[in-house]
Amino acid sequence: MFNLKQYEFWFIVGSQDLYGEETLKQVAANAAVMADELANDPLLPGKLVLKPIAISPGVITKLFAEAQAAENCAGIITWMHTFSPSKMWIQGLALNSKPILHLHTQFNRDIPWSTIDMDFMNLNQSAHGDREHGHIFARMRLNRKVVAGFWQDKEVRSKIGVWMRAATARLEGTRSVVLRLGDNMREVAVTEGDKVEAQIKFGWQVNTWGIGDLAERYTSVSDSAAEKLVKEYEASYEFAPELRTPGPARTALLEQAKIEIALKQFLEAEHAGAFTTTFQDLHGLPQLPGLAAQRLMEQGYGFGAEGDWKQSMLLHTAKVMASGLPGGNSFMEDYTYHFEPGKEAALGAHMLEVCPSIADKKPRIEVHPLGIGGKAPPARMVFDAAPGPAVLATLIDLGDRFRMILNEVETITIEQPMPKLPVARALWKPYPSLAGAGESWILAGGTHHSVFSSALNTEYFRDWAGLMDIECVLINKDTKPNRLHDELRWSEAYWSDR
Ligand code: MN
Repeated sequence: MFNLKQYEFWFIVGSQDLYGEETLKQVAANAAVMADELANDPLLPGKLVLKPIAISPGVITKLFAEAQAAENCAGIITWMHTFSPSKMWIQGLALNSKPILHLHTQFNRDIPWSTIDMDFMNLNQSAHGDREHGHIFARMRLNRKVVAGFWQDKEVRSKIGVWMRAATARLEGTRSVVLRLGDNMREVAVTEGDKVEAQIKFGWQVNTWGIGDLAERYTSVSDSAAEKLVKEYEASYEFAPELRTPGPARTALLEQAKIEIALKQFLEAEHAGAFTTTFQDLHGLPQLPGLAAQRLMEQGYGFGAEGDWKQSMLLHTAKVMASGLPGGNSFMEDYTYHFEPGKEAALGAHMLEVCPSIADKKPRIEVHPLGIGGKAPPARMVFDAAPGPAVLATLIDLGDRFRMILNEVETITIEQPMPKLPVARALWKPYPSLAGAGESWILAGGTHHSVFSSALNTEYFRDWAGLMDIECVLINKDTKPNRLHDELRWSEAYWSDR
């Protein structure tokens, strides 16, 4: 779990020096009350830091300059308690590269009907000051999120919290290495992408290491270290009976434990937050990392199969955003459909690598042959995903830009046993329908790979895409594929003009 409190969010309250000392003292006192209450609300996961009241161009420019240099400042929240002329903000905003949330609220909830006078009006004029503040963002074409409503309302606070999580994932992404073991699967288009552009856009460092480096680490892991890790597995998961006694299955389990240890050492040595593997490049390893990939996802690492580094980093992003929230996040793949009228659903899985954070019950470790890759039968965790609302998210490279595609789905209970399918799996009903979601996703060019999240709703991913200034296509119960087809054509013009 990531410690979200290590990231600061600067709270900059705007005013001006026209009103005199008394008014500015009151502004500062009210801002302190708000900052204190917001900082202690668990809905806001980051560390809220109140800054001096922004009253002049000099103060404002200095605040923004300091924010740029503050490496743990993940974002800035602005709010205008009084009027704060926006030309004072231009220099500060011009040098800003931190995410901004413009909170449009006011200190008092109600109008004090019997006592209100012009002094009160001048002190509490967010309705006025925030319009001036919003204008300068629009005028300067600056990216920001606007949240309006009373600051003590839960809905307002949870919107701030969602944005904080997205901003934290953005900052964490700029510090993350994707450790690619091998290249993308041969001939596959959708897992490819521009790694230089990904670093420019997202800050992701997408780099490759030889599988031989992992194999070398693998061979140096001791039997006793593997036995110790298997004991940890026993405490957390069910075991198929043959895993408890010496034999090929037990050996396969110990091999996966060694792969997990070697991979984790490798990830830590390279400061990587995510990794990819490919079954076409496993030289020196006895099995495809199955259980090992599942375990590392469970510990918060991003993972993408077949070299899919975009989904690997998107999973890492989801893991950061969802830190401490109930539910899970996993690498996922659309596999096969159920077209029975009235019971339409999609079955998602992967050959092995699905994260147990989305499991309904305690996963069971089993060893079975894998019909692809030509390696020894790998150990893997088998489970069904927990029922409930979930999101499928994917990131594709269209050549001139990245596009995120989101689909809201409902994970459903798997009623039928599938004794011949020993992999982790999820069964879901996509919105607006199986056919409508399929038409929309395919028109948008979406991958078969995705990030499956039962911890996050689409608001988190949309906020993150907004911070990254990338296209975001949402498929939900309001989606009409024909209409979406038109929107995709319009957005082609919008994005290609930038
Ligand atoms: Mn795949």
